[in-house]
Amino acid sequence: MQTVKIPVSIDPSRAATSGLSYKGIIPGPQLKRLRELCAGDCSDVTVSLECGVDLQGIVYLKGKAVTELTLICQRCMTQYNTEVTVEFCFSPCKTEAEIDELPDAYDPIECNEIGEVRLHQLIEDELIVATPTIPKHENVVECSMGSQDVSVGEIEAAQEERPNPFAVLQKLKSK
Ligand SMILES: [Zn+2]
Repeated sequence: MQTVKIPVSIDPSRAATSGLSYKGIIPGPQLKRLRELCAGDCSDVTVSLECGVDLQGIVYLKGKAVTELTLICQRCMTQYNTEVTVEFCFSPCKTEAEIDELPDAYDPIECNEIGEVRLHQLIEDELIVATPTIPKHENVVECSMGSQDVSVGEIEAAQEERPNPFAVLQKLKSK
């Protein structure tokens, strides 16, 4: 299969009846919202996508997207690279009823007035959800903060500031 640019939008029904499948890339710089989460440019997203109709007649877009992001570790504040992979299985729905009837294996997606879905945007959404909200080195050996647990330290400090309930009792007793 040739490596191509993944189409920005696609007509799922037409793609499914033609049994289309893609293996290609979405250029990283095009995903502006994802780029905002990164410390640098985000690399190209490698996408494999299969369009089809299942035994129940449900149209689906199934695939996988992989990219590498440069994030800033919130423990040691240095940049690191991490791979983000998402797997998805979308199915276009037109009505609430269709969404209700959709098996759990599928994620409902909305088509626009000409029956297309914005594929880049959908994949970007999935990648954003998969990006860690508080990025940190997954491997503590790579992190210059080592294995110190920064967040636990903060919680302990906060607890110390809380007034000791027995201090009030002592005051009363001493009166
Ligand atoms: Zn770190």
